[in-house]
Amino acid sequence: MGQEESKTDRKKMLIGMSVLIAALALVIAGMSLHARESRFDEVRSSIADTLDRLPDEYMEVVSADHEALESEGEEETDKTPGTSESDSKDDRKKQSSDPEKKDSPDPTQKLVALTFDDGPSMYTEQILDILAEYDSRATFFMVGYNIEKHPERVKMVLDAGCEVGNHTSNHKDLSDISRRSIETEVYDNEKLLNDAGAEGELLLRPPYGLYNDTVKEVVKRPMINWSVDSRDWKTKDAVSTVKEVKNNVRDGRVVLMHDIYPSTVEAVKELVPWLIEEGYGLVTVSELYDVRGEELKDGHIYRYTYSAEEYAEK
Ligand SMILES: [Zn+2]
Repeated sequence: MGQEESKTDRKKMLIGMSVLIAALALVIAGMSLHARESRFDEVRSSIADTLDRLPDEYMEVVSADHEALESEGEEETDKTPGTSESDSKDDRKKQSSDPEKKDSPDPTQKLVALTFDDGPSMYTEQILDILAEYDSRATFFMVGYNIEKHPERVKMVLDAGCEVGNHTSNHKDLSDISRRSIETEVYDNEKLLNDAGAEGELLLRPPYGLYNDTVKEVVKRPMINWSVDSRDWKTKDAVSTVKEVKNNVRDGRVVLMHDIYPSTVEAVKELVPWLIEEGYGLVTVSELYDVRGEELKDGHIYRYTYSAEEYAEK
């Protein structure tokens, strides 16, 4: 009798487990198929995001890790003949030495680089107006499908003394595609930006901030991630965007925002005067690194640079 019972129990357990496994399989299939584009990318993005939101002590470790990895590659890069590094620097200088350009920033002043991704859009002009009002600049990492819609916005950004960067043709996760596709995504979009007036080799912001060793090898441009995420892409709320930046901004940091949301325009309206009030100079990414004496190297990832204090001690 006891055996009968345990047999039934075992049967029940087996059925239960099968149901559970089937349910799990369905959930996984559902996630990878249906929600792949949106949810999966958001998860990946929030992983990159979490890294950036770790407290300073952790961030130093994370960036130290990057530096360790990078210094390994550094020697190789330096030994490789025919690196286009010096050419690229000249080209990049060309872009920022626009006649419209204001005085060079003061390295002893607190500095921050606001960056806007995924545009250009109808909101880009509004952001440029706010920046101009406060004699400030920013960097716009533009994506191919939006450049094609309004190529004239590239020139508009440059005429405002701001910097134009590359955010790929189709906003794909570069760490998840072939070498060939990485090249197409990066260099086709750079060509598009060149044709629209942003001359020379451009800084790249990899979509979602994601990269791997292949990306670093294939992309012969400096890659600029961020150390302050406004999370405007997630909250689409001006109050929250302002709060995130106010709480996390420091001298020498790069701030992530997107010029495709009206809430971001509202946030910028409040943030720019606040930053000025706090003593920050708002500069482009190239200016920020240039003035703090950090060289931007091809195939390397950057998130922030020296503070004025660190720069003085260097
Ligand atoms: Zn993006």
